[in-house]
Amino acid sequence: YFVEPHSFTENELTIVGDDVHHIVNVMRAREGEEIIVSDGAGRSARAKLVSLSAKEVRAEVMEMLQEERELPIRVTIGQGLPKGEKLEWILQKGTELGAYSFFPFSSERTIVKLDAKKEAKKLERWRKIVKEAAEQSHRAVLPELLSPVSFREILQAGQSYTHCAIAYEKEGSTTIHQVLEEMTAGDSLLVLVGPEGGFSPEEVAQAESKGFLTVSLGPRILRTETASQYVLACASYQFER
Ligand code: SAM
Repeated sequence: YFVEPHSFTENELTIVGDDVHHIVNVMRAREGEEIIVSDGAGRSARAKLVSLSAKEVRAEVMEMLQEERELPIRVTIGQGLPKGEKLEWILQKGTELGAYSFFPFSSERTIVKLDAKKEAKKLERWRKIVKEAAEQSHRAVLPELLSPVSFREILQAGQSYTHCAIAYEKEGSTTIHQVLEEMTAGDSLLVLVGPEGGFSPEEVAQAESKGFLTVSLGPRILRTETASQYVLACASYQFER
């Protein structure tokens, strides 16, 4: 299963880049074998391999596939940059659970610091993780991983979503279930999850002043890497049961 071919028409498609190595050398595929390919934007097809070389793989489209694998609402995980390799886990599992995109940000209590060079390298690795997870889950949509921004910038970006929430462990808040119950197919949700140390009360107030709703993710305090998965599982329960 491969996401993002180089070209994809109703009749044929071409795959270039790292996937060629995987198909030719790892899978050791031969002409005549069938693969499933998606353009990463919602179209998938069953295709028969026509030619394989070290640089490109060409396949004939046999059938366009109509399987519905995407959540009816678009959930963007605004993730406060966590320490170590936690973001890799969040991206992989979040892709499996149907996230539409990921938007990392740094805030007051962020510990990791990424300079431009480190960030570019990390982004490349993170996007590869998302792509592989999308392939593994047979997603027809490749989740977008946006470049990390500041807390102020992510609040600004909230304008492009129909629903914005900030996850904050405060008793009596609206629950994520209540937010999801109000949403309908085609809506988009940006939910902000704090880094290990959480959000400061000032940050929560700033988010609320920009129209973000403070939401609870239940009675237990979740680790930062669990919080986003909880939101996605709740969305699946709301829209896919
Ligand atoms: N600062 C908190 C503390 O030390 O008790 C914990 C922060 S928690 C590890 C990381 C993030 O997960 C929080 O900023 C919040 O966005 C989210 N989170 C975890 N559990 C939550 C809950 N029960 N309700 C709402 N948000 C939660």
